This record gives sequence, structure tokens and C-alpha cells, in this order.
Amino acid sequence: ASWVYGFERGRADGAASMSDLLGGKGANLAEMARLGLPVPPGFTITTAVCTWFYANGSSYPNGLIGEVRSGIAGIEAATGRVFGGAERPLLVSVRSGSRASMPGMLDTVLDLGLNDESVEALAREHGDEVFALDSYRRFIQMYADVVLGVDHAVFEEILDDYKDNAGLMYDTDLSGEDLRSIVDTFKRTVREETDSEFPQDPQLQLWGAISAVLNSWMNARAIVYRKLHQIPEDWGTAVNVQAMVFGNMGGESATGVAFTRDPSTGENRLFGEFLLKAQGEDVVSGLRTPQYLTEAARRSAGSELPSLEELMPEAFAEFQMICARLERHFQDMQDVEFTIERGKLWMLQTRTGKRSAEAAMRIAVDMAEEGLISTDMAIQRIDPGSLEQLLHPTLDENAPREVIAVGLPASPGGASGRIVFSAEEAEAVAHEGHPVILVRTETSPEDIHGMHAAKGVLTTRGGMTSHAAVVARGMGKPCVSGAAQLKADPKAGTLTCRGHVLKAGDFITIDGTSGQIMVGVVPMREPEMSDAFVRLMAWADEVRRMKVRANAETPAEVRVARAFGAEGIGLCRTEHMFFDEGRVLAMREMILADNEDGRRAALAKLLPMQRKDFTEIFEIMSGQPVTIRLLDPPFHEFLPKNPEEADAVAKALDIEPERFADRLRALREYNPMLGHRGCRLLISHPEIVEMQIRAIFEAAFIAARSTGAPVNPEIMIPLIVTKGELEYLKARIEETAEAVMAEIGKRLSYQVGTMIELPRACLAAQEIAEVAEFFSFGTNDLTQTTFGISRDDAASFLPGYEAKGILPIDPFQTIDRRGVGELMEIGVLRGRRSRPDIKLGICGEQGGNPGSIAFCEQLKLDYVSCSPFRVPIARLAAAQATL
Ligand code: ADP
Ligand code: MG
Ligand code: MG
Repeated sequence: ASWVYGFERGRADGAASMSDLLGGKGANLAEMARLGLPVPPGFTITTAVCTWFYANGSSYPNGLIGEVRSGIAGIEAATGRVFGGAERPLLVSVRSGSRASMPGMLDTVLDLGLNDESVEALAREHGDEVFALDSYRRFIQMYADVVLGVDHAVFEEILDDYKDNAGLMYDTDLSGEDLRSIVDTFKRTVREETDSEFPQDPQLQLWGAISAVLNSWMNARAIVYRKLHQIPEDWGTAVNVQAMVFGNMGGESATGVAFTRDPSTGENRLFGEFLLKAQGEDVVSGLRTPQYLTEAARRSAGSELPSLEELMPEAFAEFQMICARLERHFQDMQDVEFTIERGKLWMLQTRTGKRSAEAAMRIAVDMAEEGLISTDMAIQRIDPGSLEQLLHPTLDENAPREVIAVGLPASPGGASGRIVFSAEEAEAVAHEGHPVILVRTETSPEDIHGMHAAKGVLTTRGGMTSHAAVVARGMGKPCVSGAAQLKADPKAGTLTCRGHVLKAGDFITIDGTSGQIMVGVVPMREPEMSDAFVRLMAWADEVRRMKVRANAETPAEVRVARAFGAEGIGLCRTEHMFFDEGRVLAMREMILADNEDGRRAALAKLLPMQRKDFTEIFEIMSGQPVTIRLLDPPFHEFLPKNPEEADAVAKALDIEPERFADRLRALREYNPMLGHRGCRLLISHPEIVEMQIRAIFEAAFIAARSTGAPVNPEIMIPLIVTKGELEYLKARIEETAEAVMAEIGKRLSYQVGTMIELPRACLAAQEIAEVAEFFSFGTNDLTQTTFGISRDDAASFLPGYEAKGILPIDPFQTIDRRGVGELMEIGVLRGRRSRPDIKLGICGEQGGNPGSIAFCEQLKLDYVSCSPFRVPIARLAAAQATL
């Protein structure tokens, strides 16, 4: 096996398709080299080496040392330099790079190969002592941090103190003499901290860095990041060794990062930042204020600092062309890193750019319209779960707001919360149930767990491409970065700006769309659907096979569902209509009456209420099917919750207290979930069926008249396990239906079907389908009864199952294919056996879950039904399931 893959401009052993072996960075460096783009020569040590390293006690496979030696020789040949040479020394970077992008989580060492001798050679060669010494002090600092385990803060302090004493503001103000003295202090610090001299042998440096990069795969922050992003631990990282190019030289030298489109809004314009005389992470570290790439961006931001377009028009033009080329080649928005050394452009990295949900939508739709990708591909590009962010609130434009500062609009959307100054505090306060805004000078990878806990992130330093901005956009969290007017003092627990002194725990609001920061809580507004959103959903609707319905019963929900594109109601839970004040009393009278006459009297009060509800729903959903489920929950859910309520019912029913108390006792059940509920209750009290069917049919005729469109109700019976139950109830339904139709003198067609939500119903589906005209899989109860786990009690132990890897998913969110899924499959198969055209749907919580929707497509269900806000997610997921 080959452990090392080389690349240089014009040729490469690897390619973009080999990212499993070469990591994303290595594979794309190879691809850019193949495309003939200006990439400094180098080689990639494969992820297989990392796997070997961890499987074999941190040792290297046979042959690696030799292959690395030839790799270095290759770079020497391509550059005409010598690694460890006393003249024209070759410096390299040693860069991590895993299969999945893990920005900033793994280690990288730059300027490797420098020592006391070669630094002088470098200075002589370029006639630039400042540059050579600046590189050396950077190298010592990075190497000591990454390889020798000396905290980089120690070096930063030395540097800051030196600048303070000398009255200098920026690193770039340091003279050769200053740097010489700093380098000496750095080396002395290494000696003191590690009890040995800073390593002078480049070979030693190289292998030190390689092993440090491999070890960084297992550092704490990388482990957290992998957990959050579900990146398997056994993937490992590659190690890229590459000739250095220098953005920290004098003259026209700079380093920068860019997105080929705006990662916040998705707008098709080059978007990025750079710094003159800088290297590596300087741009994202917030040490100096970065400059804009394009004139347009500079002008719209009102920046005084010249753009790259203005400063170095030729390098800029080449860069712009390369960005367009990369987009065309990779057919997606790219996030690139580049360096300009004395006017010459070098590409150091390209990868698919992270973006906000809004940008993802816009970019996918724009690219499809530009002909860069197909509409099917655009549909597949959007994570259905991310739509939830688009349907998230933004600040109400008309609400009064007291703006205390403005930063950069780094990740869109509004958020309010209590101020916290550390990731730990963010987690703790959020855990107590408070919304929090994480306020940091600049976030680092160690902060990700705090960013997760926060509603939004605010930083006082750093640009649009800073760590905070990138991570927040990926998480879909509002973020304002670089709010320099604010002064955060975490020790004192204060945030000050122009006379305002806010304390930890105070509420602030941030607007990641405008960059504004406000005191207190500003009201939010429901989002609007963008043009891109509407286009993409239309494409999705064209390709999907399954219909999408909603679970809804209040007129408000039904309206939302229809606006979000629901093609019917899959589950209208009639009992939800009775929890309203004023109604629940009549319901209680019905339940607590101890004879049929008493129940009928109470039902007569409920009838007009139900009729009115159904009429409204039929009218809103005019032309679309509506499935109404007859009364389902056990009676106890409606029972009086306290003595006062009980008194009121007793009085209304005119029952003496003692008999009333007996009645309450009689209704108590040991296990209501498995007790007297669903069809069992309807069988005991057919007068309930009579009332509900009368309400449905009368409402259907009223709505048909008012809308002019026929209404064909679908009546659904819950909790069936045998054909007999269904036969009995269907007969009762038909009796009442016939009676109402005879009274009115008109007919309408309707269907009677059943929930399939108990394991026995799946097994007996063939007989049940002889009576049922449709099935709707009630996967909430089916999951409860298949697992024998009560949904309401699962929270105390199921999360532990997930954490311990015993159950990889929460079966109440995603259909458990192995158990529940197999039962559904049996239900579908047997149901179709006796009724080949039986209508099949799902109405459990999982009906809005993309993975579960894909499974429903496999079963060829006719529709999924989910909560109204998840309807767009389901429409997209159903489309993806067919591609
Ligand atoms: P990360 O994966 O954390 O982004 P990289 O390996 O990309 O780390 O390195 C960080 C930065 O170091 C790059 O953005 C680039 O600016 C700089 N860098 C890496 N390799 C080189 C090189 N060969 N020449 C010049 N700069 C480099
Ligand atoms: Mg990088
Ligand atoms: Mg149920």
C-alpha cells in the first residue's frame, strides 16, 4: 500500500473523489493541482496511517518513513529548495485534514524547517529580516503549543507585553531587532517549560509535527465536535505536508479566506476578507481588522481600508476566475483559503462552504436556474430539517428597539436571552431553562458546547468568517460578530457600551440579520417564505409521490397547515376540541353521568360545538380530504382535577356528592393507556359515536353548501385490534349516517377506516381491511406498544440508552425500522391482500421526520401526516425519498 500521495501544480496522485483516504483538504488540494491551479507542492499522508497509528500504540506502518522522505524530495525538486538546507531552505506546513470538515478542531503547524541557521538564510535570500524572524517566532510559538504542549497564551503574553512596553500596536509594527529579542525570549521560555532546547533538526521537527497532528484527532474539542456532527471516530485524519508560501513578506503579500457566494444570504457575490503581511489564522483570529476583497463589499460596509480589488487588481482578477472555476468544477459554493506572496496568488484550500439555511436554499435554487446543477440536485441539497430555521422568527421591524451597538451580521435571525460570558455558564443557565446569549471576545473551538446551549452568539472581535460566525451559521443560530464598540469584561461580569452597563444575567437581543445589539427583549415576527423557498418547494412537489397532510384540529392550525401546503388533514383529534373552557364541563357531565339518558343529555350540548368545529375545518380545507378520528383518550383525562371542579360538575349533574365520588372511583384505571379508551369506549357508549357522526355529517352538508365543493369525510376509528370491533362500530356509523342523510334528503360519500396502532392490528390487517377502507399508522401508540415503553415515561431512561449506544435513535422521533417498521410492513402487505387499493397513511409524530418519511416511501404509503409546521419539511423529505 502507498501511504503518501503527492501533488504539485498540473499533476497529483490523488483526486477529489478520494477524500476517504486523503481527507477533504488533501483530496481537494490534489484536485486543484490537477486542474492546474496554483497550489504549492506537497504530499498527503493518508487517513489509513492515522488508523494504523491508533491501532498500533502510536507507531507508524512500515514504509512510511521512506515514502515521507521521497515526498520531501519531491517538494525539494519542485521548489528548488532544500529541507534543512543552509541556503534556500525549504519550509513546510504540516496540516491536519479529516474526511469531514472539522474547522479549527485539529492542529496545523506552519513554517516548519526553520532553525537558528535557516532563519538567517531566509532573511538573506529575500533581503527581509523582519519577515524571516516573524516566521520564526510564529513557528516556535505554534510548534511549542501543538507539539511540545506549551500553552500558546504564554507566548501571546510575551508578545503583548513586548508591544506594550515598546508602545507598539500591531505585530506588523515590530522591527527586526524587536523580533530577535522576542525569538530569544520564546526559545528561553521553551527551555524553561520543557527542560530542553527548541529542536533545531528539521527532520525531528517534521516527525514531531506529524505525530502531533495525528494525536490531535483525539483532543477533547475534536471529540466533542465529532459527537455533535456524528462523525465516526475511526475515520481518522490525514496529514498534509506542503511547501510554505508567505503572506507575511513585505511588498504585495497577504493572506485571506473567501466564500464564492454570500454564506449568510446566498447572494451570488464573492465574499471574503484578507490581511496584508499576515499568515495562517491571522484573518480569523480578530487580531487586526480584516479588509474586504471586493470594492462593492468595501463600499457597502463603509470601510476606509482598501479592498484587494483595488490594491492588487491582477491577483484579484485571477482569484475571481479561480473561484468561478472551482464553483463550476465542484458544482457548489466553495470556501477557499489563499495567500499572495509578493503579488503571486496561491490557493491553499477549497471545500464546500458552510452556509445558513437561507443561503443554502438560495444557492441551490440559483445554481439550478443558472444551469450549474439539476433541479433534482437542488432538491437533494437541502436538509429538510434546516427548513425549520427558515420558519423561525426574526425581529419585528416595527417593534421599538434600543440599539446600543452594531456589529457584523454574521448569522441571520433574531434572539433574546440572558447575558453569559462563558460556554460553561451558557450551559448551566440554559439548563435552568433560561434563554441565553453567549457573549465572548472571540469564540474558539472550545466554546462549541456553549454555543449549542445559547439562543445566539455575540462577539466583540472577529469578522464575518471568524470561528463564531462560521459555527453559528452551521448551527442556524443568530450571531453578531466583531461588535467592537462593546467592551466585555467576563471577570467583572459586565458588558459596557456608551454609558450602558449590562450585567451577566441581564436580557439582550441580537439581530444576526442587521448586526444590531439591543437591550432587553425585542418582539419577534414570524418569518416569510422567500422566493427561493417557494421555487424549491414547487420543484419538490413535482417529484414527490406521497401526499402530505397535517395533524390539526383547531381552525388556526388548519389554516397554517393549508398555508404550508398541506393536502388534507390526516388526523383531526376530536377530543382536543373539548379541552376548552366551557366545553370541558359538558364533556365531564357526559362522562360522569351514570346512565345513558344522562350521557345523551350532555352529548346534546356537545353536538352543536362539534358541528361548528367540523364545519369550519371542512370550509378551510375545502376540496381536500379530512380524516376525523372519533373519541380516543381514556375518560380520566377529562375528569375534574380538583374538588372545586368536581363540585361544579356534581352540581350541574344534580348528583349527591357521595354517589358522585363513587362514580369517580369507578372510572379510575390502573393503566389508562391500555385501558378503557379508543374503540373500546365507543363500543361501551355507542351514543358518543352517534353524536360525533351526526356532527360530522351535518357539518359536511353545511360546508358543502357554503363552499360549493363536496365534502367527503373520512371517519377513523382508533385502537382497533380485531375485525369484530370495526364491524360493530361501522354498523353504528352507517345507521347514523343514513339517518342524517334521510333527514336532509341528500347523500354524500364517505369512508370508514381505522388507525393501525397496536401490534395485533398489524398482524390481523388482512381481516381488518375487509371492513376498513383505509389505514392510518398511528406510530406513537404502535411504538409504545411494540416496545412496551410508555412515551410519557421514556424521558427518564431512553436518553441514557442513546448515550450508551444501546438504542441509536429515539424511536418516538424516528421509526424503529427493525421492530415497528417490520410490523408496519406486515400491516401494509396483509391489508393490501384483501383490499389492493386500500388507502394507507401515517399520522404519528414520525410522519414529519425525514428518515421515517423515506421509510414510508419504501412502503409506498399514499400519504404522511404531520404537525402543521413540519409540512414543508415533509414535502421536501417526501421528494428526496423518490430521488
Ligand atoms: P484548518 O484545517 O484549521 O483550516 P489549515 O491546515 O487549513 O488548518 O491551516 C490553517 C492556515 O494556515 C491556512 O488557512 C493557511 O492560511 C495557512 N497555511 C497552511 N498551509 C500553508 C502553506 N503551505 N503556506 C502558507 N500558509 C499555509
Ligand atoms: Mg483551513
Ligand atoms: Mg393512538
